[in-house]
Order: sequence, then C-alpha cells, then structure tokens
Amino acid sequence: MTTIRSIQKKMSTLKKELDTLNGELVLRLPTQLFYCEHCHRQTQLKNISLVQEMYYTSATGCTGGDYWSPSQYLVVCPKCTHRTRAYSTKFDAEKQKLFEFVESNRTYFKEFLTWYPQKNYIRGEVFDLEAIRKEYNRKHRR
Ligand SMILES: [Zn+2]
Repeated sequence: MTTIRSIQKKMSTLKKELDTLNGELVLRLPTQLFYCEHCHRQTQLKNISLVQEMYYTSATGCTGGDYWSPSQYLVVCPKCTHRTRAYSTKFDAEKQKLFEFVESNRTYFKEFLTWYPQKNYIRGEVFDLEAIRKEYNRKHRR
C-alpha cells in the first residue's frame, strides 16, 4: 500500500470516528445540567425555558425611529420558576461565564422565546411565561 493510500485510509477511519462522536455529543448537550441559584436544584437544559428579554429604545429626533434590541437572557427554573439573569458583563467573571454558557447552548433548551416587555416596563412587572409563549407563537406562526 502506498503511503498516500494509507494516509487516506487512516483519515477516513478518523472521519467516521469523528462523526460518531459528534452524534453522541449532539444527543448529550441537551442533558447538560443547569444549577438554580434559588432552589439549589439542577435541571437538564432540555426541560428549561429560555427567554431573551428585548430592550425598547424610543424614537429620537426627526429621523431616528424607535427599535428593540436583545437584552439579557432569563433562564426560567421549572422547579421554582425563579429567573436567573444571564447578561454580558466585563465586571463579573462568573456572570460572564454564565452568559457565554447560555448563549452557546441556546438551542439545547426546551424552548427559546423572546419577550417584549411593556414599553414602560419596570422591574416589578409580572413575568408571565405562558403569556410570553403565546405571544411568541402568535408572532412566529407560519
Ligand atoms: Zn429553582
């Protein structure tokens, strides 16, 4: 067997092995555990709702229209309904780590919803996951 052929054969074997490992990884990523800081229990990502809160910016001047932009993520614990906030920050390494984990695993959660709070939103507004889900599904219906 020529050297080139043996290299190609080994590459083919490695590619098959890589495909198998990728398949296993994709199956396991949704089973990663998320620790709830409130009830101190862990839940697999595939059982948790992830909500991205949108931030409203009012219109300015004559030409600047109002708009929404992505804000923090809310990881909703299905066991106690506590919402863990995940946002990008350079001031807190732990918070940044959580944000990066949530962002890179977004597709492995049970669902990923966007939430457009009232324009006069204040922190005390009632968070209603069912209403957010209904609104999201209404907007994204095909
Ligand atoms: Zn909890």
